[in-house]
Amino acid sequence: MLVRMKTLLRMRGGYIEGTFMNITMRMRRKAEVKGRVSTPNYDAAYCRVVGCQNPARAATGEGLDSRFCRPHAEHYARHGSPYRKSYTAPEVRPYRKAATDWIKANASDPWVVNALQRVHGLYATAGGHVEAFRLRGLSPEERAKAAWARLRKARVDPVKVLADVLAVEMIIRDDPQADHKREFKEVQAAKLVHRMASGSHKRWGEGASATELHVFPRSRGRVLRHLGKEALEVGELVVDHHRDALPKAPVAKGGPR
Ligand SMILES: [Zn+2]
Repeated sequence: MLVRMKTLLRMRGGYIEGTFMNITMRMRRKAEVKGRVSTPNYDAAYCRVVGCQNPARAATGEGLDSRFCRPHAEHYARHGSPYRKSYTAPEVRPYRKAATDWIKANASDPWVVNALQRVHGLYATAGGHVEAFRLRGLSPEERAKAAWARLRKARVDPVKVLADVLAVEMIIRDDPQADHKREFKEVQAAKLVHRMASGSHKRWGEGASATELHVFPRSRGRVLRHLGKEALEVGELVVDHHRDALPKAPVAKGGPR
């Protein structure tokens, strides 16, 4: 009976197995951890964000990271960087416009053709459409697939997906404070792509007594890493072959610089 229970618990992930750890082992570990924390090992004990005085916290939530304090870990989960915020829609807009124009001017380029085919491929293998109401309980991989299926259903032009990916490449190139880790780029691309996939809407009844429900899939955590990885793969050959040809920074509002 115990063996059977143990197996079941193990299937649900490693954490619950700790319950079966014997007391001596647990006490020894506790002493070990205590020792580690009281040793002035700044790497382990403090948040790794430069200038942050908070202690690092071992968090357990989705996407949180024990290298950072709780606010920085949450920032990391949300934006793909512990310190750099996501680019806003107005910041990205001119880049997306420049990228769209560039894609259209290079529509016969083999790498551009290939990238657009990849988007069609993602649409084709995304499976059936899942209402936003039904996303609860799905794995991050399944949610990422559902996002591609929503884009397909909304007939989002693959040019727009590629434009998002190139816009992220360009804005990070031009940002002196950018986080250059791939994860930040993934999350930024995912957020833009995710934004184009609309939510699900339901309406019951008529007139003033009508009830409406609007559900927009949440845009954070591990689903963004999956979606972003797939989005970056769409554009990676275009970026590899045309990095220097990608349009320069669009002229800022209020005239030329
Ligand atoms: Zn911190």
